[in-house]
Amino acid sequence: MNGLTHAAGGVVAGCLLIGATGTNEPLGWLMAASAAGALIPDIDTPHSRIQKYIPGAGAVVGHTLRHRGVTHSLAFTAAMYVLLTFTLPVPGVYIKAFAAGMISHLLLDSLNPMGVPWMWPLPGRFGIPLVSSSGLLEKLVIMPGMMAAALYMLWMMCKGRGYV
Ligand SMILES: [Zn+2]
Repeated sequence: MNGLTHAAGGVVAGCLLIGATGTNEPLGWLMAASAAGALIPDIDTPHSRIQKYIPGAGAVVGHTLRHRGVTHSLAFTAAMYVLLTFTLPVPGVYIKAFAAGMISHLLLDSLNPMGVPWMWPLPGRFGIPLVSSSGLLEKLVIMPGMMAAALYMLWMMCKGRGYV
């Protein structure tokens, strides 16, 4: 899936998390955290959107890790969660939003024929091969659907908080 689809999927995951936790933290920062989390797994992909945002990441990570390897696993998600929990002085809900975004990335990539090594370092890729990455189905259905869902959920969140 491409970066825009993942960012929108991250926003959807962030909204679901906010709905589940009932946090009153600012929506914009929570959405930024979940969208960033949704982009992080593709740091192993040269020219991915996240590599454009983190200078040097492409040279270091993108050329040392195999695409859709460790960064697309539950182990990496858990490691990032622990690392950020102990290094970032922010309320825990932001770290959870980041992790929710990462999980949304794994779920969306699981729709591609390549699958995702959810259980890395154990062997095996898991997924349902429905959508080619950056194919027509993604561009015409998945991406617009994710964006529509993200906008609708954000609208409902803003309404619920009395912003609109
Ligand atoms: Zn990916």
